Amino acid sequence: MNERGKSISRQISELAARLERLEGRLSAGTASAPCEQNPYGDEPQRFCTMPEVPERTFGPDVSPFRARLILAISKKWVNGTKLRYYFFESGNLSAGNDQKDLVREGFEIWRNVGIGITFEEVTNIGDAEIRIGFLRGDGAWSYVGRDVIDVPGQFERTMNFGWDLTRDPRGVDTPVHEIGHTLGFPHEHQNPFAGIEWDEEAVYRYFGSPPNNWSRATTFHNVLRKLSSQEVEGSAWDPNSIMHYEFGSGLILRPEQYRQGIRPRGGLSERDIEQVRFFYPPLDGGRDTKLEPFKSEMLSLSPGQQKNFVIEPTATRRYTMQTFGQSDTVMVLFEDVNGDLTFVAGDDDSGTDLNARIQARLQRGRRYVLRIRLYSNYASGDTAVMLW
Ligand SMILES: [Zn+2]
Repeated sequence: MNERGKSISRQISELAARLERLEGRLSAGTASAPCEQNPYGDEPQRFCTMPEVPERTFGPDVSPFRARLILAISKKWVNGTKLRYYFFESGNLSAGNDQKDLVREGFEIWRNVGIGITFEEVTNIGDAEIRIGFLRGDGAWSYVGRDVIDVPGQFERTMNFGWDLTRDPRGVDTPVHEIGHTLGFPHEHQNPFAGIEWDEEAVYRYFGSPPNNWSRATTFHNVLRKLSSQEVEGSAWDPNSIMHYEFGSGLILRPEQYRQGIRPRGGLSERDIEQVRFFYPPLDGGRDTKLEPFKSEMLSLSPGQQKNFVIEPTATRRYTMQTFGQSDTVMVLFEDVNGDLTFVAGDDDSGTDLNARIQARLQRGRRYVLRIRLYSNYASGDTAVMLW
């Protein structure tokens, strides 16, 4: 293995070790086996169906190690992003306040974890990253993380609730699950480390029957398909995750103890909370380093970590911000408008030989925040950022 390979390999083991330490703490602590009893009775349930998006591919010069880091991190938002959500107001995409209140409560539950992402309800669809519809019969789904901005048209739904949430015994858990997708988390039951061996025909029959009536392709995409080990964080499986479906008996052949089904305990699991805090730790805005023109600042980040800088221009002109060093980063510039951070520009150089670079006209007397998240340093050496 060459130097570059060694460096990446070390970074992956660091990331994995960090997540595994976390997981070790959890299994020693309060995390416990899922409920034995189905708290909701044996009523057939409806399940979330995620939209399919093209899988990201990389050029031949991107090593599998580097690709793994990029895939594990790239759907996550830059920490500190404010996600604005909008409810469709009329026609068959709209719903009453009782349903919207459950979705609002779902955002509140993630907010109460104490994370660096904030949420705000807006009434103008053009202002919203998250556009929520209630089209009956269309299932519950959400795009995953930054796919929310990349894939759908600007006035299309990014999330849907296709049945009456107020009559669903899972209550707020369905919105919390969909918002989990919006935050960048995939289905936990598709974790390749779960080691679930399905009775595939039973699974196709179960999800192909009412009330879900899924095609075999939909069932495969949402249940049977294993995510590549590149797409998941860490290596352990969390059957209590909010991102895990509940399964009744007769669908799982092995592990033996799940032949009678898997029933997550409901709500956010300890590991859900640790994972979301890993990617979105609470921000400490007071300590952000000031980025001065022509002075480079070292990033010194581990994969997945982020650094934030404040820019207070003393002249109004066009500026360039760029990273230096052989690294994959995502860099986003915000303007501070009365304490509200508004997106100005962003660049993501992951999987390329380029560096993240933003050019923008900055105004004297205004305040800007530059956020940089590292995917990987694919060669030895640190990464720096400079403004000029
Ligand atoms: Zn889902």
